[in-house]
Amino acid sequence: MTNSNSVAAISRDDFGTAFAKARPGKRVAGRIQVGSFASGIEISIPFLILKGARPGPCMWVNGHVHGTEINGTWAALDFFRRLDPAELSGAVIVTPTANPLAMDARRKTAPQDEQDLDQTFPGNRKGLVSDQLSAALFEQVSAHADLLVSLHTMGPLFVSEPYGVYKVHPESTVSEEHLLRLLRHFHPAVACRMSVTPGAGELPGNVPGAIDYQMLARGKPAFMVELGFGNSTDPAFIEQGALGLIGVAAESGILPKPARAPAASLKRVTRRTHVMTSAGGLFRARVGAAVEVAAGDAIGEIVSIYGEVLTEVSLPGNIFTIGVRRDPVVHTGDRCAFVALEWDDYDVR
Ligand SMILES: [Zn+2]
Repeated sequence: MTNSNSVAAISRDDFGTAFAKARPGKRVAGRIQVGSFASGIEISIPFLILKGARPGPCMWVNGHVHGTEINGTWAALDFFRRLDPAELSGAVIVTPTANPLAMDARRKTAPQDEQDLDQTFPGNRKGLVSDQLSAALFEQVSAHADLLVSLHTMGPLFVSEPYGVYKVHPESTVSEEHLLRLLRHFHPAVACRMSVTPGAGELPGNVPGAIDYQMLARGKPAFMVELGFGNSTDPAFIEQGALGLIGVAAESGILPKPARAPAASLKRVTRRTHVMTSAGGLFRARVGAAVEVAAGDAIGEIVSIYGEVLTEVSLPGNIFTIGVRRDPVVHTGDRCAFVALEWDDYDVR
């Protein structure tokens, strides 16, 4: 990297010193040590630091927590590359991947423990390897960042347009309006207020263990952006992500102005659900992502291996599609769509 000071892998206890020592205008690249493989090869989290000419807040961008969600890594790197330190007030830290074990294995989760990393925050230094990764990251994020953007994509089996996801923490000082004011810079298809209550139509697991929710609990603005789908590089979605990050930096006083005007209004989703298949077969979608579908109209159909339509997939109420399955092979209980059930238009002031 040109104009950068590379630092060797550092102990997680030394990150604070490395951050304090980073000179304004110099890009610093390094790695936070977490552990090692049997062969001795290091397990570590790569990071980039850039401080501006003037003091200000620290924005942390995490490229991905799920190893296949590469558009987020690209968007974080493209954003970082474009930063002009002369214009910067404060600092930007990028972790291109928080889950190197999963990325290197081309999987969502680390094969060593199969944990969803984004359900393990704030982490555990004595836990399974994913717990140790999340602890190493979160100790530094919570100590140094004033706000966090956690980038994701949908899984590789779906198509979707970029959208935002945020949670509301009951005891946090961060308001929903503040999060939507930041999110509008991404021009998301929808901004989903995700419930952390078990059984709310989300996937099972420890939803409060998401890094953004743990930051909200500490009074710091944090949210997720989903930039398309996994195992893929999509230039338009990556650019949408990079421009959104510039907008968030501008909204937070780190950059002088956004690269483009933010969305004036957001489609705020307050209830959503996965749509599971009843029968196995081949799913053929009839609609794309980010479209409204009237009550009873089919999202798609499931066709038997003999070519007959086994069932049409529809819902009793109006829906807005967030993601639609593109991989046709489905078994009973597989997800064929991810849809909004309730939404409104939210004007950001
Ligand atoms: Zn993800």
